[in-house]
Amino acid sequence: MSNLLHRFLDFIKKDSFKRYFWYSIYILITFALFIFVFGEKHVRGFFTTIENKTFDVRQNIAANKRFTNKDITVITVDDASYEYLLGKYGEWPISRGIYADMIEYLQAQKPAVIAFDLMFVKSIKSSNNDDAKLAKSISKYDNVFTAINFDDLEETLRKPADLPEYLKAKIVNNADIPLVTFAYPNCRVIIDDIMKSTPNIGQINIMRAEDGITRDVPVFAMYKKDYYPYLAVKVAQKYLERQGQNISEKFVVDENRNLLIGDKKIPLTVDGRVILNWYGKANKTEPSAFITIPMWKIEREMYEGEHLLLDDFFRNKIVYIGTSATSLFDIKSVPTDDKLPGVEIHTTLLNNFLDQNFIKRSDTKTDIMISLILSLFVGILVIRVRSTFISSVTALLTTIIYIVINYLIMKYFNLWIGLVLPLASVVLVFIAVYIAKYIIKSRDFDYTYALATTDGLTELYNHRYFQEQMVQNVATCKRYNSEFSLILIDIDFFKKFNDTYGHQAGDAVLRQVAQVLKKNVRSTDVVCRYGGEEMSIILTNTNKQDAIVTAQKICDAVAAKPFKLGNGIEKHVTISLGVATYPENGETPADLIKHSDDGLYKAKENGRNQVGII
Ligand code: GH3
Ligand code: MG
Ligand code: MG
Repeated sequence: MSNLLHRFLDFIKKDSFKRYFWYSIYILITFALFIFVFGEKHVRGFFTTIENKTFDVRQNIAANKRFTNKDITVITVDDASYEYLLGKYGEWPISRGIYADMIEYLQAQKPAVIAFDLMFVKSIKSSNNDDAKLAKSISKYDNVFTAINFDDLEETLRKPADLPEYLKAKIVNNADIPLVTFAYPNCRVIIDDIMKSTPNIGQINIMRAEDGITRDVPVFAMYKKDYYPYLAVKVAQKYLERQGQNISEKFVVDENRNLLIGDKKIPLTVDGRVILNWYGKANKTEPSAFITIPMWKIEREMYEGEHLLLDDFFRNKIVYIGTSATSLFDIKSVPTDDKLPGVEIHTTLLNNFLDQNFIKRSDTKTDIMISLILSLFVGILVIRVRSTFISSVTALLTTIIYIVINYLIMKYFNLWIGLVLPLASVVLVFIAVYIAKYIIKSRDFDYTYALATTDGLTELYNHRYFQEQMVQNVATCKRYNSEFSLILIDIDFFKKFNDTYGHQAGDAVLRQVAQVLKKNVRSTDVVCRYGGEEMSIILTNTNKQDAIVTAQKICDAVAAKPFKLGNGIEKHVTISLGVATYPENGETPADLIKHSDDGLYKAKENGRNQVGII
């Protein structure tokens, strides 16, 4: 145990441990800043918008190979039908009697469900007879559906109507989420006769994200504290019921946020919505991903006796009736199409429901986990791999592989896993670790450089650095025609001093003499240990006269200072000095050293503790 502890203590003393420690602190601070910035609402909104855009790209690519359910058909008032009907009947909307006839025409072919994505509201043009006829046709069959829409018009402009009990959804919510995020204060009522004649009325409120694109749709709308199910959900219920499934009166949401209907599970978002998975067109010339019949063909079959569709074309089909004419304005932007008729959003929801391919959004925790794993991997990669090229390419490959996997997961598992957060954290960590790595590298370099140029005992520059600087100064002064001086210093009778007081005491004196030298010169002067008990000073931009003054000052300062030898003893020592100046005493480092050495010798000769001048 204590062995382990020792090993651990050894490890934390190591440089590599310190390095990792600082890396971690640095990355943690970067992440803390990131989270801090991410906490800002607008920043988060910005990230959400980019994430949504990447969702659209993934959808666009995947939709090419995802096709619609052939049990769903759409009858639409397209541009051609709109012109045709307007020309024939001279008005829009057309008489409700035509829709009543259409119900009878379709029922003759035994469709599974007929759903109007049309709001039969009261208007000045509508005739009571035709409205009553339509209400009667709707009430005659239990498989005909129509729509209602909620809005937020002011109460003073339209009194919010009370809706019948049988339109309200009974919900058992076992999930930890609210099923709607807000309640609509008002409602556009449809003809009273229709409202009273059928419970088959569903809401068709469509939501847009901040960029105006519809990606998700609420399964329930809340109006006056009651829930109203989406039209497509009601249609799907009827379709499943007709296939013999037992459909409960209540809507049950399980703990995992799935709405359970028959044998189907609908994954809800935290806002109680469904994220739609879009379909591609069977071929590019088709106007729609769904089998679509223009309304004029139906009208001609009904009233002109023409035979334009196959017999029993609508048998067992779910038939949606809506508009796609550009002048009727029921057009929305979705990830795969910037001009999609509203009715196709409903059929897409229904299709997602029947084929169980709604998009499920991974939760924030998963996204954060993936971000951490990816960025940790890239972080360690950058730290461990020496080659910048290899680590950058590997990091890039990692992100590309993640993007591809992320796309495939959406394509094959209908799962929307965050792309932007993981990629943003990878980029962030990549940059952060790179910067950290370079800071540490340059610090290591500084340290190594200092080690290579410093004398360990005195902490003065060493002999090698002294020689380099001599060469450098000679070159600079030659170029700029200026001068510099050199002082050589030798401690007097140092051998004897060592013999008397010991080497330790000698070392202490060497260190203190070095300090005295440093204190008495300018910061631009270079103080070195020449070797043994000899030191040297390069005085930049200094003439002979000034150099001698400095030398004398140093000589006096050393002589005056009592040096501490340890154990409380203090002793005086003296030094001898020699001076040389470029260019007057020599034009090469060797000549200058020789000249000052001669001066030093002269000082020794003359009795030491002085500056020897030649
Ligand atoms: P002088 O220069 O006055 O003629 O006499 P000296 O005794 O100083 O001359 P010498 O050059 O003969 O001796 C130098 C001595 O310096 C020898 C050695 O003991 C001592 N010395 C050299 N380097 C070190 C060191 O790093 N530490 C200690 N304590 N002594 C050193
Ligand atoms: Mg000596
Ligand atoms: Mg000496």
